[in-house]
Amino acid sequence: MKIVDLLAAPGVHVSCEVFPPKEFARVEEAREVVREIAALSPAYVSVTYGAAGNTPYFTRELAQTVQNAGVPALVHLTCINDTVPKVDTVLDDLETCGVTNVLALRGDIPEGAVFPGGEHFEHAAELIAHVKRRGGFCVGAACYPEGHPEALNRAQDLDHLKAKVEAGVDFLTTQMFFDNATLYNFMYRALRAGIRVPVGAGIMPVVNARQIRRIAALSGATLPPRFWSIVDRFGDDPASMRQAGVAYATEQMIDLIANGVNNIHLYTMNRADVARDVFRNLGAILAR
Ligand code: FAD
Repeated sequence: MKIVDLLAAPGVHVSCEVFPPKEFARVEEAREVVREIAALSPAYVSVTYGAAGNTPYFTRELAQTVQNAGVPALVHLTCINDTVPKVDTVLDDLETCGVTNVLALRGDIPEGAVFPGGEHFEHAAELIAHVKRRGGFCVGAACYPEGHPEALNRAQDLDHLKAKVEAGVDFLTTQMFFDNATLYNFMYRALRAGIRVPVGAGIMPVVNARQIRRIAALSGATLPPRFWSIVDRFGDDPASMRQAGVAYATEQMIDLIANGVNNIHLYTMNRADVARDVFRNLGAILAR
């Protein structure tokens, strides 16, 4: 099923993100995580690509596990490290496997990176236009409520987001954020810029104090004082931190839903147990 059609249906849609392993030996473990998450009946499950040095093969393997569990799969596709023919090979392969949803991304630029010779895409908008010209795929893209870390300012970043939408994006998923006011402000600015495609709000339950500085460094997301109080009080006790992290994410989601945000994307970090607790906390709300 195309995600754009799924998001057009009435009700609240909660989707989940998983990442593939780096080594073949851990594929079965990752498949089990996917099956457990699929059993929660998320709207769809997205599988990341390239970020941790994994290969397109592992991403495709997990996407097939998602689809075999009866849940639509969204495959992330980055372009900065690949030539256009390589991107086309990945798309051919996805088509053969019956995957019809891709999240078209530039990808992070590793320090000292040397880009491939030959024709390649510099920005996600070019990849999006390419996939749309090819046809057959529903295409999503990333957006950044606090602005992308490389952008000069949020206005410039919004212009670049508009270019992605004009290239044919069907839906957007936000970077994680920990203060809902950030999302509401972004949605307002996006609407004012004429961006009308569905936006999935990215929520990450932080259940482990060790993740926090890494999250802030990788995503550029601001962590509000209320969040730091939780870390200060519970960070050294794994069980308490887990409980508080799940509660924080649940509360964010309830507030979003109460304020009319119907599409939420859960960054699970492959913690099926955490995703299960969040879905359980929202049981009656999601069943409405
Ligand atoms: P772009 O849209 O190309 O934007 C990148 C930067 O370039 C921005 O600062 C933008 O303002 C600027 N820009 C855009 N167009 C132009 C232009 N024409 N001229 C000048 N500047 C321009 N990374 C992975 O490696 N694998 C994943 O699976 C993955 N999944 C993600 C999922 C989500 C929901 C999100 C939010 C991020 C994900 N990322 C992933 C991280 C993402 O790849 C990085 O944030 C990356 O730095 C930017 O990707 P993008 O597609 O947003 O790039």
